Amino acid sequence: MTKVADNLRYDIIALCLLLAVAVFLLDISVPLGISVAALYPLIILLSLLSTNMRVTLYTAVGCSLLLVAGIFVASTLLMPPWIVLVNRALYLVAIWITAMLGIRLEKAQQRLKMQDTQLQEANRDLEGLARHDSMTGVANRRYFDEELELECERAKRGGTPLALLMIDVDFFKPYNDIMGHQAGDVCLTSVAQAIQNTLRRPGDLVARYGGEEFAVILPITTLEGAIERAEDIRQVVRQLAIHNPAPQVNGPITISVGVACIWPGVKRAEPERLISAADAALYRAKNDGRNCVRIAQMAASPLELPAGGSQ
Ligand code: GH3
Ligand code: MG
Ligand code: MG
Repeated sequence: MTKVADNLRYDIIALCLLLAVAVFLLDISVPLGISVAALYPLIILLSLLSTNMRVTLYTAVGCSLLLVAGIFVASTLLMPPWIVLVNRALYLVAIWITAMLGIRLEKAQQRLKMQDTQLQEANRDLEGLARHDSMTGVANRRYFDEELELECERAKRGGTPLALLMIDVDFFKPYNDIMGHQAGDVCLTSVAQAIQNTLRRPGDLVARYGGEEFAVILPITTLEGAIERAEDIRQVVRQLAIHNPAPQVNGPITISVGVACIWPGVKRAEPERLISAADAALYRAKNDGRNCVRIAQMAASPLELPAGGSQ
């Protein structure tokens, strides 16, 4: 792109040079007073196409020199010398007014371009903010919904498996009540970051699904792979060793995980199906005593394992 722009700029410089010399030769070959020199300001206009202030400036200097040189080189004058001089002076003014206006225009264009770049950067930042949960730093619910929809489409097209983990912090209400809301926020942020750090592939996405619930999208991941990820996440959160003083726990903060996986070749890949299946598995994990991973019962998937899980 820059190379094309550079080439175009050189073409314009060459054209300006050629035209300036042509105008000069024409200027000195006719009796001075005939307005061939009126073409110089037009060359300045042409130089503006280079969108480069220096090219315009140098063209203006070159044309001015040639305009003045014409007086000395031309052999015949059509008009009295003072008229020729006034005539030349007016063209000189015309050259520089054109050049100055052009340069101001180029400066304004450059400013506009810079503002456009800044605007694009600000938009990118804004987009990042709009997609992330401000407290935990992971993706927010809206971004999660968009991505799950996209991944389902992708899975359908490619016939690849898609897994979803639903994660809920165990006995978080009593933790919050005893430790205070601020400590609760810090705990949730640590849990979110720990989950994020266990994800290995760029396509994986962790999101805050709501309150103390998180969701993880694992594209092109079989049920076996998803169970492994879920187990990793469960262990990593436990290893954070954030003490939960709730009487039901009195030990480290733990999470329960529901795993669901669909294989679009066999079944419909719908976000709602995947979410409700993972949710149901999470519910079972809670019922089975928490701090464990449970798998959704989605019959007919080629990689479906019997319902169960690990602790
Ligand atoms: P369970 O093991 O069954 O999940 O029990 P729980 O106590 O974790 O479940 P419950 O859904 O009753 O409690 C969730 C609590 O999470 C309620 C609320 O006080 C807390 N919570 C939700 N969002 C936030 C948040 O942004 N910051 C903090 N500090 N607490 C939150
Ligand atoms: Mg909850
Ligand atoms: Mg909870």
